[in-house]
Amino acid sequence: MKVLISADIEGVAGVFHPEQTRAGNGEYEAARRWMTLEANAAIEGAFAGGATQVWINDSHGGFRNLLPDLLDPRALVVLGKPRTLGMMAGLEYGAALVFMIGYHAMSQTRGILAHTINSFAFARVSLNGVEVGEAGIYGALAEEYGAQVALLSGDDVFAEETAPRFPGARFVVTKRATGQASGVTQSPANAREAIETAAREVVRQHLGGGRAEQATRAVAQPVACELRVQTSALADLFCQWPTLMRVDAVTLRFDAASVEHMVRMLNCLSAMSFMLR
Ligand SMILES: [Zn+2]
Repeated sequence: MKVLISADIEGVAGVFHPEQTRAGNGEYEAARRWMTLEANAAIEGAFAGGATQVWINDSHGGFRNLLPDLLDPRALVVLGKPRTLGMMAGLEYGAALVFMIGYHAMSQTRGILAHTINSFAFARVSLNGVEVGEAGIYGALAEEYGAQVALLSGDDVFAEETAPRFPGARFVVTKRATGQASGVTQSPANAREAIETAAREVVRQHLGGGRAEQATRAVAQPVACELRVQTSALADLFCQWPTLMRVDAVTLRFDAASVEHMVRMLNCLSAMSFMLR
């Protein structure tokens, strides 16, 4: 049984400030190590629970933050960009369960370092009329590929907003938000222990058949995506793409054949936005 882990950094215990998430800052080197060790906790738990294969996907920024030297050598690592399935790359080779570790709340919420894909470009993203963050978007992609989102970790705002979307999934709350860049964190060691325990238990439960009824809940296709962007200049730019419809100064819509196509379009727009930085 194979587990794919998508690891982001903003939801990792001890991470509160943008500098901790960007290469080139002293504090980033500590934060990427915590990220790697939380990923290891999930890998360890997955194998202890009975997984036979674990792939770990580096899902932050340039997708090369995890420290391969420190990673559990039993796992295979997905690194670098661009890649078609973004934070879920690896899923094209199959996985039964998906874990989202170190995730964060959606843009325009009070979660720690809350954003959706690209904080410069996107203010709100909705999928078939429901506002979604990265977990909602990439969770829908996982389900489209027949995988089940089984374990998620991040702050309390992330857990609260995401739990209704994945009712069978387990959440580990690593810290509590008091603002966009402030809050109260568990120690990295305690967060890792909680992640390892949860990972072991969800894999065991899955192998025991306990959560089979959650297995697939694929999103209706075609997928309607509404996008609120951060400035009208970005909307002008994005509407150069002929299938994007302008709703108002900063709101756009497009239809996609599948969640995968929606993800690929968002990743194209995110890349285009660098022209206006
Ligand atoms: Zn990130």
